[in-house]
Amino acid sequence: MALIHCPSCNKRISDKAKTCPHCEFVLAGRTSEDIEREQLRAVQRRKDKLLSQSMLALLLAIGAFTYVFLEQPHPDSWYAKVSYGLMGLSVIWFLINRVRIMLLKRGR
Ligand SMILES: [Zn+2]
Repeated sequence: MALIHCPSCNKRISDKAKTCPHCEFVLAGRTSEDIEREQLRAVQRRKDKLLSQSMLALLLAIGAFTYVFLEQPHPDSWYAKVSYGLMGLSVIWFLINRVRIMLLKRGR
């Protein structure tokens, strides 16, 4: 028994499986053309998800930055700490998503 990657969710499954146990993608009776098309669709889905996540991260960072810029909370106040923390986390989250999109484009 060999392990293959599910064309839909990319998890490792048995090559004998008729459907993927993770996402219920039907493997039995598929042509290699079908499988290839599903792989492209799955990559596109992952890319869309990462793109919307990176947009969300960017919005959060901009939101936190705008708050600090306009309100200028005292640096010791918890508002400031939360804002700076949020800003840092969103920037990191954004960068991680960009790298993941880049890796996805290059193909696994
Ligand atoms: Zn699957």
